[in-house]
Amino acid sequence: MIAALALLGYAVLLATAGAGALGRASWPRRAPRLAILAWEALSLSTIGSVLLAGVLVELAATSDDAARRCGAPAPWPCAPATTPAGLALAIAAAIAISAVTGRVVWCLARTYAAAAGKRNHQLDALAVLGRPDDRLGVTLVDHAAPSAYCLPGRHGRIVVTTAALTALDEHHLAAVLAHERAHLRQRHHLIRTTAEALSRAFPRVPAFTMAAEQIGRLSELAADDAAAKHSGRLTVAAALLALAEAAAPGAPAPAPALTAGGTTAATRAHRLITGTRPLGRTRVLLGLAATALVISAPAVAAAASVPAAPNTACCTTAAAQHS
Ligand SMILES: [Zn+2]
Repeated sequence: MIAALALLGYAVLLATAGAGALGRASWPRRAPRLAILAWEALSLSTIGSVLLAGVLVELAATSDDAARRCGAPAPWPCAPATTPAGLALAIAAAIAISAVTGRVVWCLARTYAAAAGKRNHQLDALAVLGRPDDRLGVTLVDHAAPSAYCLPGRHGRIVVTTAALTALDEHHLAAVLAHERAHLRQRHHLIRTTAEALSRAFPRVPAFTMAAEQIGRLSELAADDAAAKHSGRLTVAAALLALAEAAAPGAPAPAPALTAGGTTAATRAHRLITGTRPLGRTRVLLGLAATALVISAPAVAAAASVPAAPNTACCTTAAAQHS
């Protein structure tokens, strides 16, 4: 039971102090991909800790005193709960585990289905309004708003409006396309959709909302960095600013998400122009180790608090004594 309380405490600590510290940290803008991993680890570890705490409560509540006298607790369901309080606790733990798991699965399914629906709607529209440009490897759309975005999926594609072609010169266009290809290559749509689903599953837990917002912002920085390796950071910054300047204020653009430019273009361009120094290799390795620790700690702690192997003989004895 102590281990279960420790896991719940760990989950609360991650969702409050952990999320706050990560949200305030300045290093994520120097290593956005590592920061995305850190937010994912924080989110998954928070949920995992709660679920494992529930499992431990279930195990403790259904352990039997007779089984304990065998030298080790008999694993559930060998030993039945012996008191009404234990039975109530076991039922409460089972309900909590089912509710959390069900909520996560339901919201993941709904969010992914909604994303697929939007993507299919866009593909249907592009089948009528778009035309392939084999030289650029994109789909062109006649539209007055300058926009470039990607549509992920089995055959991910990049969509560029004719206004964007007008606003961008050849080098800027190459930078924008490199940005969109990075989104597709790094599977940002999956990462963002999962984070969005978790924020919908637990809207009263600010850590998940913060994770979704930060992952959205960081995925743009990661795509900018990939484009900067291809085209140079000043060219990418100039392309972002060109797209932002060409957009009429308030005019709707046919870009759902994962778009180059957008409302954060000025901030991102400033980061590229000032030449944010990437995080050093040692600090990246330390960050990866810390992330692995955050993810694995709950499972290690839970595994250490249950018997290593089922004591079937003791289980039989416990059942016989109980009957
Ligand atoms: Zn983007």
